[in-house]
Amino acid sequence: MKYISTRGKAPALNFEDVLLTGLAPDGGLYVPETLPEYSKEQIAAWSSLSYTDLAFQIIQPFIGGCIPDDDLKAIIDDTYVDFRHPAIAPLVQLDRNEWILELFQGPTLAFKDFALQMLGRLLDYIVERRQQKVVIMGATSGDTGSAAIQGCKRCSNIDIFILHPYQRVSEVQRRQMTTVVGDNIHNIALRGNFDHCQAMVKASFADQSFLPDGRQLVAVNSINWARIMAQIVYYFYAAYAVGAPDRSVSFSVPTGNFGDIYAGYLAKRMGLPIEQLVVATNQNDILHRFISANKFEKHELQHTLSPSMDIVMSSNFERMLFDCYDRDSAAIADLMQRMNTETVSIPDSAFAKVRGLFDSYGVDDAATMETIASVYDASEYLLDPHSAIGVKAARECRRNTATPMITLATAHPAKFPEAVMKAGYPHAPALPHHMSDLFDLEERYEVVDNNIKDVHAFIAVNIRA
Ligand SMILES: *Cc1c(COP(=O)(O)O)cnc(C)c1O
Repeated sequence: MKYISTRGKAPALNFEDVLLTGLAPDGGLYVPETLPEYSKEQIAAWSSLSYTDLAFQIIQPFIGGCIPDDDLKAIIDDTYVDFRHPAIAPLVQLDRNEWILELFQGPTLAFKDFALQMLGRLLDYIVERRQQKVVIMGATSGDTGSAAIQGCKRCSNIDIFILHPYQRVSEVQRRQMTTVVGDNIHNIALRGNFDHCQAMVKASFADQSFLPDGRQLVAVNSINWARIMAQIVYYFYAAYAVGAPDRSVSFSVPTGNFGDIYAGYLAKRMGLPIEQLVVATNQNDILHRFISANKFEKHELQHTLSPSMDIVMSSNFERMLFDCYDRDSAAIADLMQRMNTETVSIPDSAFAKVRGLFDSYGVDDAATMETIASVYDASEYLLDPHSAIGVKAARECRRNTATPMITLATAHPAKFPEAVMKAGYPHAPALPHHMSDLFDLEERYEVVDNNIKDVHAFIAVNIRA
């Protein structure tokens, strides 16, 4: 299996190289050159596999022979050992034919664990084999940082530096990053906001001369293909539980960078009978405005009760548009250029494909709180604000009540105590047992000025030999 850039001017790579690369050198994103497609019989044959056995079947073709099957199996089996639920991704019923897929049973209580627990292990395996060491540098507004740290903490060949905006992440989120012990783990609290953190990481990728000889930076944000790949699995797994492939299934997905729902789109193209894919956004609703009216227009960032979906531009959307443009990379390169500076609409033929694939709905903070409250009233099930957006959008967009509608619950409510209390929940939701000492553990982080020299000096001193 080869991977090609959406902008057509970068070399094709194999899985191993795509894992170690972020953005393609032409500014595009890597996607598989061809996607495996499965018959209904083939899909039915996997229906009773365990989560990890299913993951092996789905992921193996994407590895393209870069990792021997036995080693890949071992990596996948190890990936989910720290998940607290034997089903890994359990379903909970909210109403007749309406379900919640709990993707927050991993070590950091957000769905990003599914991908980052695997990414850390894949990276460690590959760089060990190449007798190389790499440096992960990432910016976080909360969930990505802790999931990346947890995913890489045991990786002897990786030093990890996570930048978060000083005093601007929630206490639970900060402690989930800063209490993890390891001499390869470094938290930088940057005196700035999330955009400054991202700009710092971007500039560091562009000029890596501050690193010791032979080291390179690796990206852990959702432009990394391996993260998308790992997320395809739970769409299949959940669909089987409600009767696929004999029955069609619909999904509603709380969306920020379009990574999670893009994996659902791939599952559909691989043959899973998905009837509706609902793009659920918060007030940062560029995707909803585009999908409903073919107008791609950047608005100022708004801070909402669902901070992990607070984005201006969704990076992975380019991967999907690439297909809707019949993989015309020159047209995509031109479109992405224009999207940065002006309001754009896309040709009718491409837009018809987008509309055929996705429904969308934008949910503001008031409706988010209302949904948390009404679902709790009806069933005593407590949603986090991101998952509540998914449930609300599912209910608004649903066309066929005979088809099971599954909303992806992307975070545990204990991660966002202020939001659920604002919605009327009487106290901060309890953290799961394994995290009950979070507020007693010692924190480690370095406050650094928003200055690239200071950040690079800190990294250079702390990289292990
Ligand atoms: C990252 C995140 C999202 C958004 O996922 P994308 O793949 O960026 O669309 C939604 N909810 C939570 C809790 C997250 O951490």
